[in-house]
Amino acid sequence: MEPDNPAQDPTDALSSVPAAGAGRALSPTGRLRFFFGPMDCGKSTLALQIDHNQARQGRRGLLLVRHDRSGTPTISSRMGLARTALEVHEGMDLREVVRDRWAGGARVDYLIVDEAQFLSPDQVDQLAELADDARLDVYCFGLATDFRSALFPGSRRLFELADELHAIQVEVLCWCGRPGRFNARVHDGEVVRAGDTVLVADTAVVADEVRYQVLCRAHYRTGDLGPAGVTGRQLSLT
Ligand SMILES: [Zn+2]
Repeated sequence: MEPDNPAQDPTDALSSVPAAGAGRALSPTGRLRFFFGPMDCGKSTLALQIDHNQARQGRRGLLLVRHDRSGTPTISSRMGLARTALEVHEGMDLREVVRDRWAGGARVDYLIVDEAQFLSPDQVDQLAELADDARLDVYCFGLATDFRSALFPGSRRLFELADELHAIQVEVLCWCGRPGRFNARVHDGEVVRAGDTVLVADTAVVADEVRYQVLCRAHYRTGDLGPAGVTGRQLSLT
């Protein structure tokens, strides 16, 4: 544990992030971290694990999420863990969110942001400011690329600004056994390469014929979904 540093941050007077007095825990540095990987690689599970470890050290966290797959503002993993979170809306100023917590007397030492690919670039800039000026530790989790294999704008900004980038090491395999890095959108047995990116949030609850499948680059390029039966259609075989 870092000892509390009673010295005032000399940048306070210049910062648009206000000092919070007793509501603010001082630590030597705040870092902005981005953990990224394909769907089903365990991002939300890791987010909840980090929250648990931080909380066990007596630190206070704020959990944020955009477009959570459960439909309610929680960080939930497919392994069944869940914690209540605050839903981030488009245009929400994340500095205001933290400022409001401080105003209410709450301490905030760290932020956990799930589905961070859906943040706007401006919101990522706000997280960097909170890390620098309020010394919050910010842990972001999300996909790097969408179903077109293009970076999400929020993920791009995280790659540009983050202090640390972590490719999540739990490997998701393509049907061929190679590491899966691409989140293919599949409609009627075909890989779809154009359309609205936001559907990618809801792997479990999207419309019937649209689903997602993680593929290696070669099979993403060729659109080869593998032998029938390995792609989540087992029910139709019975
Ligand atoms: Zn493959």
